[in-house]
Amino acid sequence: MERQGEGFRVILEIMDEREQNIDAIHERDLDKLLKQEGLLDAFQKGEIFCKFCKTKITRENIYSILPESGAFNFICQKSECVGNLLEHIDNKTL
Ligand SMILES: [Zn+2]
Repeated sequence: MERQGEGFRVILEIMDEREQNIDAIHERDLDKLLKQEGLLDAFQKGEIFCKFCKTKITRENIYSILPESGAFNFICQKSECVGNLLEHIDNKTL
């Protein structure tokens, strides 16, 4: 098995406007989170898509998970999407 999930991050909470609480998460935690939220099945079937570019999210390209309004948004590693994510967080926390 290749080492995967390096650089993968999950945003656990949005704190105050300046502080982005971005915590690193291990691949094991990803499974736990997906299982906990009942998303593991959909993830394994390839039914999870990037919030911004709608690319299928895999273990290889996942960058972050953003909890929002009781749901989870997934973000891929494209620099464009990471940029969008940071902008999105900025907007939300204004
Ligand atoms: Zn994307």
